[in-house]
Amino acid sequence: MSSAPELKATLTLPQTAFPMKANLPQNEPLRLAKWASLRLYEELRKAGRGRPAYILHDGPPYANGPIHLGHALNKGLKDFVVKSKTMAGFDSPYVPGFDCHGLPIEIKVEEQLGRKRLDLPAAAILEACREYAQKYVDLQTAQFERIGCFGRWEKPYKTMARDYEARTLEAFYGFLEKGFVYRGLKPVYWCIHDRTTLAEAEIEYEMHTSPSVYVRYRLTSDPAAIDPALKGREVYTIIWTTTPWTLPASLAVAFHPDFEYVALEAASGEPCCPQTAVYIVAAALVAQVAEDCKFLSAKELARFNGGVLEQTLFQHPFLDRIVRGVNATYVTADQGTGAVHTAPAHGADDFYTGQRYGLDPTCRVDATGHLHVDPAAWNQAAPPAFEGKTVWAANPIIVAILEERGALLANRDLEHSYPHCWRCHHPVIYRATEQWFIGMETPVKRQDGSETTFRQLAIEEIDKVVWDPAWGKVRITNMIATRPDWCISRQKIWDVPIAVFLCEQCENPIVSAELNRAVVGLIERQGIDAWRTPEADALLPAGSVCAQCGGTEFRKETDILDVWIDAGVSWFAVAEADPDLKQAYSDFQNGKGTECLYLEGADQYRGWFNSSLLTSVALRGRAPYSRVVTAGWTLDEQGRAMSKSLGNGVDPVDIANRLGGEIVRLWVASVDFREDMAASENLMQRCAEIYKKLRNTFRFLLGNLHGFDPVRDRVAESELLPLDRYMLARTRELTEKILGWYAAFEFHRVYHAINEFAIVDLSSFYLDVLKDRMYTFAPSSQARRSAQTVLWQITEALVRLVAPILSFTADEVWEHLPAVEGREASVHLALFPKPEEVFSEDPTALLAEWQRLFAVRDDALRILEEERQAKRIGKALEAKIFITIEQDGDVLLQKYRSSLKELFNVSEVELGTSKELHDPARRTPNEINSDGLLVNHWGATWQPGNGTKFLYRVDALPASGHKCARCWNFMPEVSSYGIWENVCTRCQSALSEMGIQPPQPPQSEEAAS
Ligand SMILES: [Zn+2]
Ligand SMILES: [Zn+2]
Ligand SMILES: [Zn+2]
Repeated sequence: MSSAPELKATLTLPQTAFPMKANLPQNEPLRLAKWASLRLYEELRKAGRGRPAYILHDGPPYANGPIHLGHALNKGLKDFVVKSKTMAGFDSPYVPGFDCHGLPIEIKVEEQLGRKRLDLPAAAILEACREYAQKYVDLQTAQFERIGCFGRWEKPYKTMARDYEARTLEAFYGFLEKGFVYRGLKPVYWCIHDRTTLAEAEIEYEMHTSPSVYVRYRLTSDPAAIDPALKGREVYTIIWTTTPWTLPASLAVAFHPDFEYVALEAASGEPCCPQTAVYIVAAALVAQVAEDCKFLSAKELARFNGGVLEQTLFQHPFLDRIVRGVNATYVTADQGTGAVHTAPAHGADDFYTGQRYGLDPTCRVDATGHLHVDPAAWNQAAPPAFEGKTVWAANPIIVAILEERGALLANRDLEHSYPHCWRCHHPVIYRATEQWFIGMETPVKRQDGSETTFRQLAIEEIDKVVWDPAWGKVRITNMIATRPDWCISRQKIWDVPIAVFLCEQCENPIVSAELNRAVVGLIERQGIDAWRTPEADALLPAGSVCAQCGGTEFRKETDILDVWIDAGVSWFAVAEADPDLKQAYSDFQNGKGTECLYLEGADQYRGWFNSSLLTSVALRGRAPYSRVVTAGWTLDEQGRAMSKSLGNGVDPVDIANRLGGEIVRLWVASVDFREDMAASENLMQRCAEIYKKLRNTFRFLLGNLHGFDPVRDRVAESELLPLDRYMLARTRELTEKILGWYAAFEFHRVYHAINEFAIVDLSSFYLDVLKDRMYTFAPSSQARRSAQTVLWQITEALVRLVAPILSFTADEVWEHLPAVEGREASVHLALFPKPEEVFSEDPTALLAEWQRLFAVRDDALRILEEERQAKRIGKALEAKIFITIEQDGDVLLQKYRSSLKELFNVSEVELGTSKELHDPARRTPNEINSDGLLVNHWGATWQPGNGTKFLYRVDALPASGHKCARCWNFMPEVSSYGIWENVCTRCQSALSEMGIQPPQPPQSEEAAS
């Protein structure tokens, strides 16, 4: 016995297994496992065979910690590029890299080993570094994969891999053999604590207290040569320094050739030198010097130009050394005395001045920061008190010596900003050391054979690259134009050794291509440790003779390469050598139109973009990339940098675990990455909200595709209902735009366009107005199949268009689409839709027509709302829209007459014409109320149609007829269908088409028996 069937149950409501709730944190790992079992990356490579190549060459992140938001942004953007290029029909392999060598890891490992490291052989420390780096390579790999980044994660490139190390060394030999490399003394930042040179990038400024001293140097040359007024006087100049420990290295006093100097007769208030003397200082600084040195009286004896002080001679305050007066233009008049103590071993300016005047830059501060006196300037039996002291301990000792020698005019403590080591945070010093350099002025030949310098060629190559944003070109050009020679040596162990044999006699390296290949082979087989073994010694052929001096004794260089060389030669070690990249990269290098993209943060102008450019110009005479795209910084909502202390950090791994990797991806897509970007918990939550809306739109699309078999049910484009055709044209337009934005890496535009399409075009409009057709029409009716055809095509297009960004969800949607023979196992193996496949015609004219219809719709909705407010109608389906148009008029509204009911989502739309439309006198509401339908008194707003010649008037009235119990439309006729009362004729036909007979009342038990 059955109870009476329900009319409601005859509606065809959406139905799908695609869940509303995403459960991303639980489900994403399952999808990753699915991709792994599909071997999706390999499948993508197979699919890409024969397609044009697109290279995104990965810049390697440093493997010394978990990923942060900047990493997630970087890899997210790259993943968008790789996936969108792949789906646009390119073969776009992605070989991720890791930067594994260098100081930060070596320091960390040494810290962890503690005192133990002193007893360990280098090989053991290298092994510990390798393990340390590998730990973070593994961690970061898992984290990048977790947020859905595709790539050859099983075999990334690592700068510590043996083949990579061998290639790095090979690149160095290339520089050496081509004459770019020289060895020279140069003051460089030096960390005493870590016993190594530091790059500019490894310096941080922190506050530091230094002694600030004024020291007098006695003139030994003829004072009358400076000015006749000084004849026979005891003359001094005064220098000011905050590094008294550099005074033993003082070789010159620099005066600005164009400054005015004065000779001041004064007596100091300091007890060490009370007698009146003559002091030479810059005129502009007299007042300051007189105050700081507590001059009791001061009388100007003479005034002269700094140029005359060149070639003066002074007595060093405590060494047996004559100090020269020199001219230099970097002398400033804003502090000090205008007379600058110059120690070529301890300052960059000093060094270059020393070069001009032939001063010896030998450094007498050893690697551990201990001071040693120049024996040529010390003829006493006992060493000076500062001998063997660290520079910091030497400071007060030297100050005491100055005082004792009557040379100290003032001494106080100065707290100032001072360079510190970025790792150990100890203050650093400038120290001249033997270093290896790549010379920026090395002569090179252009491809056409003409001669230029390395620096100039690099600048010319910059010009051939597309820089995005465009200001990047100016920035890197300026950096290359002004950078000093590249110091490529470091005094540590965790990197590729500068594996050369040095002549014991003349310190020059043996440059032999044959020997170099042998060493590369050794490193390739055994890794960088091998350079420290006797096997390396054995490679030096017996009887080797120095080409420079004929020397026969050699030693192995122990310095290692700057870590920026490692990363900088990745184009050489990976792009040119990796089987997955080399053909495409060779096509790029040979100008066959293949793109090679570098995409990193803007800090890489002085980092990886820079080092890659220089190494490639040196070895190949060209830039290593054709396009460079840079991202800004990730900041909090207030524009502040993220930091532990502010507690404003956003951890992408935490977001992935709580909200989903998809939310991290959606955030990356949402920001304009070329600018600085805001991120916060709040913004991530907002992305999660937007995600829910997008997901629901997909769910609704899929739900309405239930029972649709594309092969069986698809309606030909020419037979689609007009509204459906419009939506398809709109989808084509969207597809065209999105493909353009992907090509231009405008991911945030893709994000906004997809949101708008999902929310405005689909949820608020199309999916809403379709409900009547989708729910109440017979499932297989032509009108419903027309809608389903378009919903299916929209979903097929949209799922592909979002796949590079919403990689997890698109793949999930893919699985719920109606089955199609030959469908790829994952959306990621599919290609982007082609606009003409979405809709075959040029959509411009059609979209323009619908734009006008939408203007009428806007009026209709506004008037419906006004009528609702006035309580003259209720829901839209209880209303009818009456549009009065010009008699000969609006072809458009007439053409689309049958679509208007659905477009306005009302029970009925009626078109009426009025001859009087142009007559202002007739423009009152009741006058055209001839048919008696116009009962409302909505004001007379004759609306000009869009663009236009046509006038129309929109009125909203209560719908006539009766409400259908099934479809809720007001229909002219409703009647009983079996026991169901008030069913409209349209629904009755649908029911019979569905094979549902008019249900009869349940029989009573008696009747049944
Ligand atoms: Zn340090
Ligand atoms: Zn030699
Ligand atoms: Zn009905």
